[in-house]
Amino acid sequence: MRWLTASLIAGSLAAVSVPAKVHTPPQAARSAIILAYHRFGPSSPGMTTVKTSVFASQLQFLHDNGYNVVPLRDVVHYIEGRGELPARAVTITADDGHKSVFTVMRPLIERYRYPVTLFIYPSAISNASYAMTWQELKQLQATGFFDIESHTYWHPNFRVEKRRLSASNYRKFVTWQLDKSKEVLDRRLGKGVDLLARPYGIYDEQLMAAARQAGYLAAFSIAWGRVSQRTEIMAVPRILVTDRDVGRAFGSLLAEGRRPIPAAERGSRN
Ligand SMILES: [Zn+2]
Repeated sequence: MRWLTASLIAGSLAAVSVPAKVHTPPQAARSAIILAYHRFGPSSPGMTTVKTSVFASQLQFLHDNGYNVVPLRDVVHYIEGRGELPARAVTITADDGHKSVFTVMRPLIERYRYPVTLFIYPSAISNASYAMTWQELKQLQATGFFDIESHTYWHPNFRVEKRRLSASNYRKFVTWQLDKSKEVLDRRLGKGVDLLARPYGIYDEQLMAAARQAGYLAAFSIAWGRVSQRTEIMAVPRILVTDRDVGRAFGSLLAEGRRPIPAAERGSRN
């Protein structure tokens, strides 16, 4: 059959009048935007809290403007060259396991039926007053919309720890944070955790190598930018969404992968 395939390809090429030097890929290169949330509430006391009404308007914006909200795993497969992405691909993630993920985010996500990845540090779960319980995480998992992945074991600042510890103790500390988190999440939630978001988006060569060593397929930071097949898979950028990202501003964040500086603030020293 090989000759037949070859002649069909030759025939179809002959029928297409493309200038010889132009290389036309079978599909235009895709890219995705990964959004990172933390907590939700009636007011926004800081950068990491998005008002419930703002979050609802952002989901509606994605819905109304033809965005395709895809699971984070699809983006990982795309970077690896193992899968395709739809046009206007957006991914939703939320870090830290705050209670408002259960009370505010869950009902909205169920309404829009969008996939979400949660990055959790297990030491807080069923422990810190602001955090969800294991039971709540299991309930989120059972909805089918929430995938739960690792945010290290107790959310250290690796930059601080690197200064504080000897080189060999720091290496052990990093390995422990990455292994322990995976092990506890796997055991508690009955799954195979293989995605990592490092706290504060901190990364360097050593942390990227440690993530690979610990068996993570991909690791995520907090940074501007769109994700393409050229993205470094151990430092995939996610955009920190704030309360100011509404309407057109949110649209341009999704289009550009960064937040434009408002005209009123240009040249301001604040
Ligand atoms: Zn965090």
